[in-house]
Amino acid sequence: MGKKIHILGAGLSGMVAGINLARQGYDVLILDKSKQIGGAGVFHPSVHATPVDMRIIKDYVGIDLSGHFHEAQNFRAYFGKRGYRISATGMYGIERGSRESSIDIFLFREAQKAGVRFEFSREIRNHQELPPGSIIATGLFPEMFESLRVPSQGVYGYAARFESDKPNEYLVYFDDYIGEYYYHGIINGVFFGLIFQRKKPVSRDAVKRCQDYLAEREGLDLKEWFYIENQVPMASVRNPRLFVEDKILAGTLAGMMDPALLFGIVGAIISGKVVALAVENREKALRDFKFYTRNWKKNWIARRILERIPLRSRLNEQFLVKGSEGLKKFFLQSGKLAIPGVENYPMINVLEKL
Ligand SMILES: Cc1cc2nc3c(=O)[nH]c(=O)nc-3n(C[C@H](O)[C@H](O)[C@H](O)COP(=O)(O)OP(=O)(O)OC[C@H]3O[C@@H](n4cnc5c(N)ncnc54)[C@H](O)[C@@H]3O)c2cc1C
Repeated sequence: MGKKIHILGAGLSGMVAGINLARQGYDVLILDKSKQIGGAGVFHPSVHATPVDMRIIKDYVGIDLSGHFHEAQNFRAYFGKRGYRISATGMYGIERGSRESSIDIFLFREAQKAGVRFEFSREIRNHQELPPGSIIATGLFPEMFESLRVPSQGVYGYAARFESDKPNEYLVYFDDYIGEYYYHGIINGVFFGLIFQRKKPVSRDAVKRCQDYLAEREGLDLKEWFYIENQVPMASVRNPRLFVEDKILAGTLAGMMDPALLFGIVGAIISGKVVALAVENREKALRDFKFYTRNWKKNWIARRILERIPLRSRLNEQFLVKGSEGLKKFFLQSGKLAIPGVENYPMINVLEKL
């Protein structure tokens, strides 16, 4: 057996790292506080959506995940009261959680095939309990942000989930009553909707307004919502960091998340490979880490500036005046190169005004 490596967190970045290291002959042990894969808190099963460059993932990460990225079809976006049906080439949905059809279970099986060992119900609250050289991949959970003193911001939301026999669909609402946005997606028979914002909990009033719009526009009667609270590494412009003390940081904890719209899936997957490299070659890993987070600072600052402009006037400027051309521009400007590992932002085309 090769050298032993501990990984804390059996999520996307932890498992990608584990697979890569085990394939190189390391003896990998992944510890996770959940009772099972994809069982993280109340979040899953859930549907996430993100722009992806499938080629970069396959070539760089070395794991073919294409079967788990479902092209986002039937996509609608509302900016205030203005709604559009759009095509978004390059935008995909992913199922998370512990169902057989989730990406988490796929990675778990790949990891087991490669010889990775797992221990569940193992919560570690202090990074010093882990051996030097361990990888910490604990996502949006607060304990390791605190223990490693990575400046973080609260992100709060309400989510809704139910089984659905409808085909895949995606919807996003940007509006002035939500700090971030509401989105929902349906994949593999699971509906998952989330309204969320940073810094303070979403008010019941905001949830009610969203609920009313969903009833009016979609005929969707969402009554049961559950509360969600996480941390994101957006409290400091200097946040992305690969090493803290003698530990290697992965995924969202490392800042491999888009600071503008909080897309974290692709960054986590890419980061799994970066941290596997870091075990053998710190300099090379640091070069790759800097490459994938090269637009972080710019987008972090852009987001801060944008936050000072009331959403209503942003919406007016972009959409009421410039119409669908403004919509394309909004996506390109706010998203361009913001997501670690995504070089080509989705091609947005307006198919129809709603
Ligand atoms: C509800 C929700 C919706 C989201 N929607 C989207 C989306 O649509 N698009 C997108 O791109 N991103 C989305 N994200 C963000 C994305 O899920 C994360 O950025 C990504 O999963 C991070 O991957 P990771 O490998 O860093 O951590 P994760 O995949 O979250 O895995 C972390 C693992 O660490 C374990 N863990 C945590 N703390 C400890 C501890 N102290 N001890 C032991 N184990 C621990 C957890 O149980 C978990 O299994 C969403 C996040 C949430 C919560």
